[in-house]
Amino acid sequence: MTSLVETHLAAAPFIEKAPLERYVAPEKPSLIGLSRAALADALGRLGVPQGQRKMRVQQLWHWLYFRGLTSFDAMTSVSKELRSALAQNFTLERPQVVAEQVSVDGTRKWLLRLPGEVAGERPHEVECVYIPDSERGTLCVSSQVGCTLNCTFCHTGTQRLARNLTAGEIVGQVMAARDCLGDWPGGTRPTDGVVPKKSTERISGKPDMRGERCVTNIVMMGMGEPLYNFEAVRDALLIVADGDGLTVSRRRITLSTSGVVPNIERAGAEIGCMLAVSLHAVRDDLRSELVPLNRKYPIAELLEACRNYPGLSNAKRITFEYVMLKGVNDSIADAKALVRLLKGIPAKINLIPFNPWPGSRYECSDWEQIEKFSQVVFDAGYASPVRTPRGRDILAACGQLKSASEKLSARERLALRAMVMTD
Ligand code: SAH
Ligand code: SF4
Repeated sequence: MTSLVETHLAAAPFIEKAPLERYVAPEKPSLIGLSRAALADALGRLGVPQGQRKMRVQQLWHWLYFRGLTSFDAMTSVSKELRSALAQNFTLERPQVVAEQVSVDGTRKWLLRLPGEVAGERPHEVECVYIPDSERGTLCVSSQVGCTLNCTFCHTGTQRLARNLTAGEIVGQVMAARDCLGDWPGGTRPTDGVVPKKSTERISGKPDMRGERCVTNIVMMGMGEPLYNFEAVRDALLIVADGDGLTVSRRRITLSTSGVVPNIERAGAEIGCMLAVSLHAVRDDLRSELVPLNRKYPIAELLEACRNYPGLSNAKRITFEYVMLKGVNDSIADAKALVRLLKGIPAKINLIPFNPWPGSRYECSDWEQIEKFSQVVFDAGYASPVRTPRGRDILAACGQLKSASEKLSARERLALRAMVMTD
C-alpha cells in the first residue's frame, strides 16, 4: 500500500509556494484570531474612543472574516487614519502557504509555516487538508505542532510536541485554505484539479451566500490533541462559528479527541461543537496499548464523559472513530463488543482504514474483514460506517499529516528545488 501511495505521490507533486530561504519572521502581530473583546482593546490602544469601539469591531469583523481581506487598504468603511494606524501596528497574516498538493480526487493539502516560538528559531510547519465531496467541503485543521500523546498507530504520535498553536494560527488555517480556494465573496476558484461542488446549504440570514462556499465543515483532526490546547482551540472555533464572519455552524464543526476526559464537558459547554472520540479498541488492555492516554482515562470513564456531553441527543450524536488494524482490533467479536459498549449513547461509528506510514508496526485490515466488521455495526443500526480513504495519493489522511510534511522537508523539498530550478 505504501508503494501505491508513493507512486501516486510522484504523480501529484507539491507546488512550492514559499521557499524557506525567503522566510522572514513577522514583526507585527496579526489581528486574525483576536476575539471581539480583544479587538476592541486593540482599537482602544490605537485611540479609538470607547463609544465607537463596538461599531468599529463590527466593521473590522466583516472585512476580516466575511470578506477575507488580506490588506487594510480595501476596508472602505474604515477611515483612512484608522486604516493606517492599524497597518502600522498589525497585519492580517495567516499561516504562510509553503506548498500545495492536489489529489486526483480533488483533495488538497497545504503545508503551512508558523513562526518559531523564539526569535531566530526555525519556523514550524503544520498541514491542513481540504476534502470536497458532493454535498460538503471538509477542512481538516491542526491544533498542535506534534503531539504529547504517543498513539502507536499514529505518525504524529512519534513527533515530540513542538508547541501549541495559537487561536490565530488555528483560525488562520481556515482563512489560508479559503484564500487558496478563492472561497470569499467574489473570489475565483482554482482551475486545477477537481473543482469543488457548491454547497447547497442556506446560511441563515445570508441568502447571498447560498451555494457559494467550498469550506462548509471543519474537523479538528489534523496534528495534535485539541483538548490539550483547549483555550486556543475554543477561541478559534468560536470565531469560526461566528454568524457575522466565517459562519460555520457548530453542527458542522467536529472536534476529535483521543479521550482527554476532563475537557470533554468543557468542549460541549464552551464550544458547543460536535464531538468525535478516537476509541479504537473495546478493551482497556488493548486501548492502553494503542492510545496510551487510556491508562489515565480508561474506557468506562471516557464513555461516562460521553454520556454527559452537553447537548447530546439523537440529532447530535458523538462519532466514535475506530481505526481498522489487521489482526489487532478487527475481529467480529470486537465488532459485537463495540456495539454492546456504545448501547444507549447517541452515537455514530466511523471505521477508518488504517493508513500505514514508513516504520509503522500495523497493517490495515483486509477489505473483506472491514466489510464483515461494518456489517455487524450496520446491523446494529449504524449507517454507512466506513470512512472512504481520500487523497491517498497525497498522503492526506487525517492523523498522518506530519508524516507527509516530514517527507516534504526531507526528500521532496530537494526534488522540488531541483524542479523549480530547472523550470
Ligand atoms: N488527537 C486527536 C485528533 C487528531 S487524530 C485524536 O486522536 O482524536 C485524528 C484521527 O486520525 C484520530 O481518530 C486518529 O486516531 C486517527 N489516526 C491517526 N493515525 C492514523 C492512521 N495512521 N490511520 C488512520 N487513522 C489515523
Ligand atoms: Fe496525538 Fe491523536 Fe495522533 Fe494520538 S492519534 S498521537 S492523540 S494526534
